[in-house]
Amino acid sequence: MITAADFYEALAEGTLLATRCADCDGLYIPPRSLCPACYGTELKVEELSGKGTVGAYTAVAITTTRMIEAGYGRDNPNITAVVDLAEGVRISALIHGDDITVGTPVVFDSEHSAEHVVFRKDDS
Ligand SMILES: [Zn+2]
Repeated sequence: MITAADFYEALAEGTLLATRCADCDGLYIPPRSLCPACYGTELKVEELSGKGTVGAYTAVAITTTRMIEAGYGRDNPNITAVVDLAEGVRISALIHGDDITVGTPVVFDSEHSAEHVVFRKDDS
């Protein structure tokens, strides 16, 4: 069984993990130990490609103390987005970079992901 701690440990090491239900093939990120669709308990850990597009986003200027300590705020709003991953699942993430809009291709930023899931514009 994978835990949230396992997910964030892998994230800090540059890997984006999900779980896939052995019974109904449902894919979940963050990983779960119980399938919400069929209540199956046999979920296998799967590494995702890290490729996706911006499904929705917002710029957050008034933020938490923790994000201010990380350098964000009125003069440097953080972009928070829902990323539609290539595998068909969605995840909430910070986006590094400008010129983001709905549909912008993004890629998992393994170097900057630790406490947060971070994506950057995919220029490839
Ligand atoms: Zn299932």
